[in-house]
Amino acid sequence: MPETFLDEPIQFLKGVGPRRAKAFETAGITTVRSLLQVYPRRYLDRSSITPIRLIRAESGTVTVVGTVRSAQTVPGRVKRFEIVVEDESAARLQCVWFKGLGWIPKAFKVGDRVALHGKPQVYGGRVSLAHPDFDKLDDEGPALDTGRIISLYPGGAAFDRAGITSRQMRRILYELIKEHGLKLQDPIPESVTRPLGLMEGRVAWRAVHFPKSQDELRAARARLIFDEFFWIQLLLARMRQKRTATPGPVFGEPGPLTKRFLQEILPFELTGDQHAAIADVVRDTRTGVQMNRLVQGDVGSGKTVVAVAAMLHAIDHGYQAAFMAPTEILAEQHAQVLRAWLDPLGIEFRLLVGGQRKAFRDEALPGLASGAIQIAIGTHAVIEESVEFNRLGLAVVDEQHRFGVVQRAKLFRKGESPHMLLMTATPIPRSLAMTLYGDLDVTLIKEKPAGRVPVRTLLRTEKQRDEVYEFVRTELRTGRQCYIVYPLVEESEKVDLKDAETGFATLKEIFRGYTLDLVHGRMAGWEKDDVMSRFKAGKTDILVSTTVIEVGVDVANATVMMIEHAERFGLSQLHQLRGRVGRGAEQSWCVLMADYKQSAEGKERLKAMVETDDGFLISEADLRMRGAGDFFGTRQSGLPDLKIADVVRDVDMLTVARDAA
Ligand code: ADP
Ligand code: MG
Repeated sequence: MPETFLDEPIQFLKGVGPRRAKAFETAGITTVRSLLQVYPRRYLDRSSITPIRLIRAESGTVTVVGTVRSAQTVPGRVKRFEIVVEDESAARLQCVWFKGLGWIPKAFKVGDRVALHGKPQVYGGRVSLAHPDFDKLDDEGPALDTGRIISLYPGGAAFDRAGITSRQMRRILYELIKEHGLKLQDPIPESVTRPLGLMEGRVAWRAVHFPKSQDELRAARARLIFDEFFWIQLLLARMRQKRTATPGPVFGEPGPLTKRFLQEILPFELTGDQHAAIADVVRDTRTGVQMNRLVQGDVGSGKTVVAVAAMLHAIDHGYQAAFMAPTEILAEQHAQVLRAWLDPLGIEFRLLVGGQRKAFRDEALPGLASGAIQIAIGTHAVIEESVEFNRLGLAVVDEQHRFGVVQRAKLFRKGESPHMLLMTATPIPRSLAMTLYGDLDVTLIKEKPAGRVPVRTLLRTEKQRDEVYEFVRTELRTGRQCYIVYPLVEESEKVDLKDAETGFATLKEIFRGYTLDLVHGRMAGWEKDDVMSRFKAGKTDILVSTTVIEVGVDVANATVMMIEHAERFGLSQLHQLRGRVGRGAEQSWCVLMADYKQSAEGKERLKAMVETDDGFLISEADLRMRGAGDFFGTRQSGLPDLKIADVVRDVDMLTVARDAA
């Protein structure tokens, strides 16, 4: 984006000052643009207010405006803060808070005019609002009567301390727009926005904060959503342009190694989608332009074969290949697969992971540098400075959503722009893929290898725990293995949460006579590997774990997965976990243990898991229910920071912006 007035610092704006500037800074707000992008979280106008006398327990979310008549902290076993508000029809409503008792009571005084927003429920025999969202209105009362729309801004403790209430926000923004409105230049030319019927940018900034009507507000939001998508799409388009101008190695027709691998060595027939994916790679790598392709395929769809075929294709044409996986367990597992498939072809490859013996590295590194070793497979160790290739022609990144853009770029610098094949088992809905990977070409593997027995998923509650254990025992007796998965080890809160460690101790008692092992994220890499290889070798009956087994581990004899506190996992994550079973010819089971006190919403979510095993449907549902921000959790670094646009809700505008860009 070009530098404009929008990039100026805010501390010199009227009403900001050093103290508030500091509070803003802690929230990441430093420039005029970021201040303007503190979008109202809600708008208040006459039509959106519910008279208190009409409120029932089943009303759904309501907004109430009234005067505080009483405010008090009520001591007791469960300490709470209560207020009573009265609206203009003289009806009264109680609101309660059980949390935030440090600062919320300070926010209310008897006589204050407030807006409250929440869902009515019956508490102590009366309808009340629990933990409503609130705003002080003070002098805006009359404004509401004139039919104006009032913006309510997000708050927070830091803002509150610095006196930045919704009212302050309105004042600061009002001054900003009054004083500098004309400088809010529109960096996107009118020739782009006008034909699309979009509001002028300058007007949109004003109207989103001070709308004159609901129609104007809609138009302003549409324009700002467009802008957000437009800049991302422009960036992606530029990346793509730059890439297509970069020459890549030219491979040509599939050679003898690839052919022998597919026809003689592979113990099964490729699926149609696997064939198509390999064909995509062959086509991309003969154009002379660097390939940047994402293969998206559900867990178990057989992406590894595609990766191996692609690497052989590179070797057939005199190049080396690198294969990068996010964990040592996975890298090791890939190495085992490669050993079986590539040894007969006489291909030299080495596994590079952290902390290997010097003697080994002393042999592997020169081999890669001279080209005597054709494939390097490993974790981040593959992209270390010390690793040099003679002629790197292809880099495969497995489970690419685990890696940031930076790592992708690092691998890219290893050769003279090697082709990139990225693989992910997190099926990303099309809309999101467009914002995230607009610079990539995408291949989908939807078809599963033939002969797979779909995993059966069961939803069980605490009361059925003994039955579930009995069921696990029956499976173990027939020689099968089982996973029991817990949410992450985090003993921070005093929640009644059976984490993996305490769970492990109990389980050892319950499954006396069987061998149990524990693996979790805080263990060292080699410890994890030890545990995993014992499980793979069938020496362990039950593997108790946190989510470290989430990705890619392949143990065909494991037929049961029991997931504790399933309601605490995202759907996509559950789906990944579930993909660890059902990898052999036997019927496999996934038992979701969920807290029966969970919300109705949580129950709905988990039902989706029982009803479908289509990863794409599940991730769409997940994205819809949790929003894009939570979808990937903190691990995802590539997600653009969207302030007003929503990749799911605004997918139509996303398409418009993409075309415009
Ligand atoms: P993912 O896409 O999750 O990485 P993998 O590549 O690990 O899946 O494949 C899962 C399992 O399916 C492996 O054991 C693999 O050998 C097997 N497999 C892959 N393709 C086929 C196929 N076309 N037919 C039968 N089995 C296959
Ligand atoms: Mg895989």
